[in-house]
Amino acid sequence: MSSRVRNPDLASDMRTKLRALGLRPTRTRVALSSLLFAKGNRHLTAEMLFDEANQAKVSVSLATIFNTLNQFTEVGLLRQVAIDASKSYFDSNNTEHHHFYIEDRHELMDVSPTDMIVGRSPVPPDGYEIVRIDVVVRLRRKVATPHP
Ligand SMILES: [Zn+2]
Repeated sequence: MSSRVRNPDLASDMRTKLRALGLRPTRTRVALSSLLFAKGNRHLTAEMLFDEANQAKVSVSLATIFNTLNQFTEVGLLRQVAIDASKSYFDSNNTEHHHFYIEDRHELMDVSPTDMIVGRSPVPPDGYEIVRIDVVVRLRRKVATPHP
């Protein structure tokens, strides 16, 4: 890690936050969390964060990015949104909300919190409780229909 942190206030906030969550604020964790939280609410895959880290001259392997994202998710700093077996997004907005997924652009968007999606929760099997309800609404562009 030879990078200089661009936003010292954010880096200092992230150090405090990581400590409060029980994670040692290593250079890698501080650098990656500063990238993740520098631009408001975002949805990033590990590969996207890897590219951003490279551009910011943060030298880190993709495996370390995966490990760090999983640690951040475990402590509740991020939310993981799984699209399919090969694609997972990490959401810097850890509050409960739902998503649109634009399939042909591989883009995840927040559904406005004022738009109700889940009207009634399903009854879980005996001995289980609902942790959270994540809805991903998959979208594709409408096909133009010729006028009759
Ligand atoms: Zn989101």
